[in-house]
Amino acid sequence: MKKRVEKLRESVLRENLRLASSGLVILTWGNVSGYDPEAGIVAIKPSGVDYREMKTEDIVLLDLQGNVLEGKLSPSSDTPTHLEIYRNFEGVHGIVHTHSQYAVSWGQSGRSIPAMGTTHADHFYGDIPCTRKLNPNEVQADYELNTGKVIIETFTGIDPLAMPAVVVNNHGPFAWGPSPAKAVDNAIALEAVAKMAYLTVRLGGEERIDHWLLDKHYSRKHGKDSYYGQKKK
Ligand SMILES: [Zn+2]
Repeated sequence: MKKRVEKLRESVLRENLRLASSGLVILTWGNVSGYDPEAGIVAIKPSGVDYREMKTEDIVLLDLQGNVLEGKLSPSSDTPTHLEIYRNFEGVHGIVHTHSQYAVSWGQSGRSIPAMGTTHADHFYGDIPCTRKLNPNEVQADYELNTGKVIIETFTGIDPLAMPAVVVNNHGPFAWGPSPAKAVDNAIALEAVAKMAYLTVRLGGEERIDHWLLDKHYSRKHGKDSYYGQKKK
């Protein structure tokens, strides 16, 4: 078990560093976490630590209720949002939060990111939803937990594994996946499609991708009939 937990910690460090070098985050804004459901342990970036100085032992270990199990540093201030997502989205084992600029711009406009082309369809099955705004009570007490709750509320009737990202209103994106590495991939894809959608709308494009093309692109990469990439042996 100890080995599994160390592996989780190492992957969370590695993916935080990959996020930092992806160009999606500046200063210490982003964070990556990972969850091992068998161990019941979440590993997350410490709060406010420079990526260049971060070490494996700085990655904080917690249970799903937020009790710190190991680590001398305080966990990311966004931890309650991550935990709420893990408690509700089965199969999600990695979460990324950034303030990447194009995705934030959609969130600051209160708009979902429209599915306009195949790049989007390869990663996200439909429009990437934007949450409602939080009310004053939700902001004053348990703000980070309520951010998680509004994400869960937004996903009523949406499969989080087919739609592995959200834009939080006035704030920014959270992306996730079945591992910390897949969550970072989805955060990078999210920013790319947010930029493409922005540019398309600026050029006067209005139409969403046809649903048969959306279905084709999503299903060739995901699910039982997928055929993109190399055959699994
Ligand atoms: Zn944030």
